[in-house]
Amino acid sequence: MLLNNQITLVTGAGSGIGQAVAELLAREGAWVILLGRTQSKLEATADRIGNAGGRASIAPLDLENGLNRVPEVVQAIHERFGRLDLLVNNAGTLGTLTPLEHLDGVLWEQVFRINVTAPFFLTRELLPLLKKSAAASVINVVSSVAFKGRAFWGAYAASKAALVNLTETWSGELSRQGIRFNTVNPGATATAMRAQAYPGEDPATLPTPEQVARVFLYLASDLSKEVHGQHLNARDWLTWQPH
Ligand code: NDP
Repeated sequence: MLLNNQITLVTGAGSGIGQAVAELLAREGAWVILLGRTQSKLEATADRIGNAGGRASIAPLDLENGLNRVPEVVQAIHERFGRLDLLVNNAGTLGTLTPLEHLDGVLWEQVFRINVTAPFFLTRELLPLLKKSAAASVINVVSSVAFKGRAFWGAYAASKAALVNLTETWSGELSRQGIRFNTVNPGATATAMRAQAYPGEDPATLPTPEQVARVFLYLASDLSKEVHGQHLNARDWLTWQPH
């Protein structure tokens, strides 16, 4: 197993890509802390992991309005595990696809709060625990529109571009202290968010979250120990077999 006894945290772990990543990490021996907004979804993911012989605990938290509770979550991880080896900032929101001209200010703030402020704040608060790891890895989940803006994807695209930039800054500041920061662009993946953006699309034509999860395992493991400040495309890893 690639992640024996690693302590890992995945946000947005109750559905889609986050759920698949959490399940794969657990299969590789990691303890997975499942963070997300909807408790019932986190419990369902924890049950699936437990039924498959893995280990997980849940941390229900609303990353839009509940950031004041982050220190509480960090304290709980500190008391139980004393360190964190992997943080996956996966939770995200699409907002509303609309021309910038008509983009509501409240929606803009909401998208930035969930997609940029939350990963920044969570990472900053977890740094003392990441510094206790022998080899920490942080993965921020971005999007193709982070690298080139696209009409009608205004707030979402700009927020993911900010997350790319933030990742590079974190990496520049902390890679020498042994914390690796990288992004993953999942590419089109069969999830609820993709269906929201492209309601007419047949999800059977898209890669599954399970296929997309493989690149996260690579970035979580020692196999990528020299990789930092990079932007990886899940597309390049869909068929990767670690064993
Ligand atoms: P899903 O909609 O399936 O998952 C999004 C997750 O984020 C859910 O578990 C959701 O929890 C959580 N979340 C949203 N808002 C909050 C909040 N305020 N507080 C806590 N958790 C929250 O989408 P995906 O799995 O597709 O998305 C995962 C990541 O991948 C996102 O960052 C997305 O931008 C990115 N991505 C996805 C692509 C795709 O094609 N699917 C393509 C490119 C990037 P809950 O369900 O409880 O609300």
